[in-house]
Amino acid sequence: MSNSESQASINDTVTVQTEQGLYIDPAALTAHFSALEYHDEALYIEGASVDELAQHYDTPCYVYSKQAILDVYQAYSDSFAALEHQICYAVKANSNLAVLGVLAKAGAGFDIVSRGELMRVLAAGGEASKVVFSGVGKTRGDIEFALNQGIACFNVESVAELTLINEVAQQLDKLAPISLRVNPDVDAKTHPYISTGLKDNKFGIAHELALEVYTQAASLAHIDIIGIDCHIGSQLTEVEPFVAALDKVIELIQGLSAKGIELQHVDLGGGLGVRYIDESPVSIEEFAQALLPKLTELGLTVFFEPGRSVVANAGVLLTGVKVLKPTQHKNFAIVDAAMNDLIRPALYQAEMAVIPSKLPSRGIDTEGTQPWDIVGAICETGDFLAKDRLLTLATDDILAITGAGAYGFVMSSNYNSRPRAAEVMVAGEQHQLIRKRETIEDLYANETLWQNED
Ligand SMILES: *Cc1c(COP(=O)(O)O)cnc(C)c1O
Repeated sequence: MSNSESQASINDTVTVQTEQGLYIDPAALTAHFSALEYHDEALYIEGASVDELAQHYDTPCYVYSKQAILDVYQAYSDSFAALEHQICYAVKANSNLAVLGVLAKAGAGFDIVSRGELMRVLAAGGEASKVVFSGVGKTRGDIEFALNQGIACFNVESVAELTLINEVAQQLDKLAPISLRVNPDVDAKTHPYISTGLKDNKFGIAHELALEVYTQAASLAHIDIIGIDCHIGSQLTEVEPFVAALDKVIELIQGLSAKGIELQHVDLGGGLGVRYIDESPVSIEEFAQALLPKLTELGLTVFFEPGRSVVANAGVLLTGVKVLKPTQHKNFAIVDAAMNDLIRPALYQAEMAVIPSKLPSRGIDTEGTQPWDIVGAICETGDFLAKDRLLTLATDDILAITGAGAYGFVMSSNYNSRPRAAEVMVAGEQHQLIRKRETIEDLYANETLWQNED
């Protein structure tokens, strides 16, 4: 990309901030998302009309583009083609079996943080030999299951975990492949809740202690040291923190080599950010170009664990406008999705775009355009999906919340006894229900009345 082009992309905003609120130009926004497009003023995800999907599956409903997921996976794979590499999709970002299955078929490995995620990967046709297991709280049962399945690597987050893995491996008469997740203490410059590579975060082993813990690991009979790992945070839009973390990791790899500990792979975690509205994260290609020289010199296999960047913009949450409630101070549009369906705005102050399924004819000047808070029906003031958005709304309109493919459905709950939404996958004009909407009976099917005498 030439300088002038990257300059253009930095100034490439799709919003107008007015005194009343934020206007997001729907057509300009969707131009940035490969799966979304307005045809004859109607919103499509791939070849499927959003209004027809909403009618067919009802709302709220998550819809994912199969091609958009594959395109990002391929971009990672192509960008690092010069190196031995394995892209381990971070399952927690979106763990639907259909999503995992599409990625498994494309050759992806997986980064998991629980036994449940490993079982999902296996159920979706993924190979255990391409799975890395992260997470600070692996239990004896988790470790035993993962060892029996033959996963590629445990990303070890503490000395206690290292000891436990060795113990379980001994009982099973196996050798456990491990890397240490080191905490490089670099600032990912992201939201504090999704920053993981700072000294006071709970993740990983402190950089200063890493060599010592590796030496300890080398003395354990059932531990096979194969790599080193770091993951510094999520929604990183710049490449510098990744380069800084890699430098710290290279320092450790050299220190290990001097001690006679040779590694096979370096795992740089996930965390690459996406464009939700006006963000301009580095592209996967730019990310690769910044890291490739150092990685090539290192000569190790490289693992990445991208989650958000693979699925965020492949997905939308479709919601219907149920009640319009203008008040003296604010206009509320009460929609059928809520914070239980999509918690990112409430939990991370995330700004996500809300666009109509039908393009308004005159943009910001359309008659009836007003500032709206898009809120759910839950009894919490924190139950909002977006605030102060300039939109032209009518009851029963269908809205699409974009960027909802990552940390959307997976973080949903049944708060207020609300059944969780349906999930749908689209490929071209085809679409398929990949998780049926919960019924109200599902919500209390596992509950019983108190049956003892009082
Ligand atoms: C969450 C997580 C990821 C994925 O992060 P994204 O920001 O979604 O790319 C990767 N590795 C680990 C260890 C994680 O916890």
